[in-house]
Amino acid sequence: MNVDPLELQKFGALAHRWWDPAGEFAPLHQINPLRLAWIERSAALADRRVLDVGCGGGILAEAMAARGARVKGIDLSDRPLAVARLHLLESRLPVEYEKIAAEDLAVRTPAGFEVLTCMEMLEHVPDPAQTVVACAALAAPGGRLFFSTINRNLKSYLFAIIGAEYVLKLLPHGTHDYARFIRPAELSRICRRAGLEVREIAGMSYNPFSKSYSLGADVSVNYLLHACKPQ
Ligand code: SAH
Repeated sequence: MNVDPLELQKFGALAHRWWDPAGEFAPLHQINPLRLAWIERSAALADRRVLDVGCGGGILAEAMAARGARVKGIDLSDRPLAVARLHLLESRLPVEYEKIAAEDLAVRTPAGFEVLTCMEMLEHVPDPAQTVVACAALAAPGGRLFFSTINRNLKSYLFAIIGAEYVLKLLPHGTHDYARFIRPAELSRICRRAGLEVREIAGMSYNPFSKSYSLGADVSVNYLLHACKPQ
């Protein structure tokens, strides 16, 4: 199976902190409005069937549901999913969560979703290409897919690991493994091999002085990729 148990454990151990905007998942809370806006520039969400792969505690899944999407969130880690379900009692949003691998859901409901998101997850799986293939199978013809991950180069090592985990302490030590970072060209190739058309790539940069993220052309560390499944 395309999963690293240690990764699931890592997210499980911190799951109770998922919705604390000042906790270990603060970066996800901070980037959420940016990535939501980026998705909405190219895909309408209202009434669309949306799948969030590797949804964790549901930060993005809930935000998309709040925009009127019919969202399903899947993950393989129990505790983040439990937190996600619990949070619905507070938000009263209609997200459906399930513990299932994208590969297995693709067998059950191929072409079942108009929009797919898979954010900050590919750098935690042993075979990201296999996940992308599953996402492509889950997308309906004409469907839109949005991935985000971390580039692999000296700057991303310094910023995403040394800077974020050791200097600024934005993330717990050991959150990311440099070897699993994926270059935009690699993710583009993976998408094309999965039969997807790459439409757009955008960078997401952190400014340590203003302590905020912004979208732009600099894809050297965090980036987003928008792909389309042909009709
Ligand atoms: N996508 C969410 C959470 C990112 S954290 C967001 O951006 O807000 C990464 C998530 O990927 C964790 O919840 C972890 O449990 C999940 N994950 C890791 N490996 C996975 C796999 N093989 N299948 C499904 N989820 C996985």
